[in-house]
Amino acid sequence: MKTIWILGDQLPPGNSALYQASSKTERILIIESRNLGHHLKYHKKRLSLVYSGLRHCALEMRATGWQVDHYPLEDTVDYETGIRQHLKRHTKAQIYVAEPNDWPTAEVVRKLAKKYPITTVPTTRFLLARNDFKEWAADKKQLLMEHHYRGMRQKTGYLMEKIDGKMEPVGGTWNLDHANRKTYKDWVKDGSPLPHPRRRFPPDATTRAVLATIEREFADHPGSTEGFDLPVTRQDALLALEDFITHRLGKFGDYEDLMIEGEPTLFHSVLTPSLNLGLLTPAECVEAAIAAWKKGRAPLNSVEGFVRQIIGWREFINGVYWQKMPAYREVNALEATRPLPSFFYTGDTKMNCLRETLGQVIDSGYNHHIQRLMVLGNFLLLAGIRPQEALNWFLEMYVDAWDWVMAANVLGMVLHADGGAMATKPYAAGSGYISKMSNYCAGCQYRTDEKTGDTACPFNYLYWNFFDQHAAFFEKNVRVAMPLNSWKKKTPAAQKAVRDSAKKFLANLES
Ligand code: SF4
Repeated sequence: MKTIWILGDQLPPGNSALYQASSKTERILIIESRNLGHHLKYHKKRLSLVYSGLRHCALEMRATGWQVDHYPLEDTVDYETGIRQHLKRHTKAQIYVAEPNDWPTAEVVRKLAKKYPITTVPTTRFLLARNDFKEWAADKKQLLMEHHYRGMRQKTGYLMEKIDGKMEPVGGTWNLDHANRKTYKDWVKDGSPLPHPRRRFPPDATTRAVLATIEREFADHPGSTEGFDLPVTRQDALLALEDFITHRLGKFGDYEDLMIEGEPTLFHSVLTPSLNLGLLTPAECVEAAIAAWKKGRAPLNSVEGFVRQIIGWREFINGVYWQKMPAYREVNALEATRPLPSFFYTGDTKMNCLRETLGQVIDSGYNHHIQRLMVLGNFLLLAGIRPQEALNWFLEMYVDAWDWVMAANVLGMVLHADGGAMATKPYAAGSGYISKMSNYCAGCQYRTDEKTGDTACPFNYLYWNFFDQHAAFFEKNVRVAMPLNSWKKKTPAAQKAVRDSAKKFLANLES
């Protein structure tokens, strides 16, 4: 009898090793490795999601007639312990596992496969196979998401229509991002709309048992299991998808970049925790959104924005990861060396935008993408935080974090640490962006209208200090010619004031 080994982020239906399998001829192996949870200081809600997802998978498969060999977290040190015990019980078992989604897990499985009868099966978790992306990327100097995205639209036919015998994007344009940038003022003018509250999934008895173990076993990890309410089953993940399509997709595009105090999710889908576990497939999420648009229940700008996040960014990030690993994890093109400030684990900072965003992630394990990129990421970039420390923090704190999704997002997009291999310019901004897209600045003790000095918003001088520090690096980059020229045109006194303010702020950051 064959054994199908299901990893924590390969839950059905997204597991290719299960496609041809039957409960009559195969059995299931599920190992809740405790060591994996200790690899980094993972947020307790992230641990809750992964371990509870695995445990529910074991229970559900058993309930549907599968023979399941399940090694729970409470008495399973690592994968090897589970494999050895499984092979003791089933001496002739051949173990099949879908290709791991990330490099570190692939290495663990590769090593185990040298000692035990383990075979990997190509993964189908993504719409684009790793080799297809490699082929697409092979002759490109720079990997641009927009080019990849258009190729994916053509390949899948999503949001495409036939015009004069040619497949064209619906609405006549590939990208409706220009319609998806409503500011804080626009939102107020629109009557400050807020979504119907996100559907929550209170823990059942199985999840409650997992939460109790996590509080005990991972007591010194950040966050709390209290308030855990994410879907951990396929059925609940589908309800979460329906909840987004019905209640939030309609305004998702308009307010995609908006940030409001006390409103952590706004109109975002919060589907990545389920998608990245395998409980939802990318195709069904995209198709549900397109179906809503076809029925007139959601506008094209929202649907195109959502489709781009999944078949564009998600697939692109995964492709870049597998094309560039393992060397990618060590990139540091801007030679950033400052340690991560300890307030990233406490939220204890006077900068209101950071305090609010960090408070949300410490509480829930979630921020939406603009908070991650333009508040936290922007700060980490401008403050010159060592990329690998920043990456580990993102991996630890977010409920949807996995190595494949965070590596290219954090190192490439957020920190420009790959030297621009996947982003044509650094995502650096002064206070202007945050004050335009949020209400954070109104409650902050720093002033956006002051450029330097103790009461000025730190983003203002850190922004210019960044271009001062990296002027030589960006000299040939036409996309940053404007800020570089503006910096050069500043008077020596103005430049000195920027340097002095940045030096003082950054010195305090380290103390
Ligand atoms: Fe953030 Fe600066 Fe606004 Fe304060 S003033 S909330 S530090 S952008």
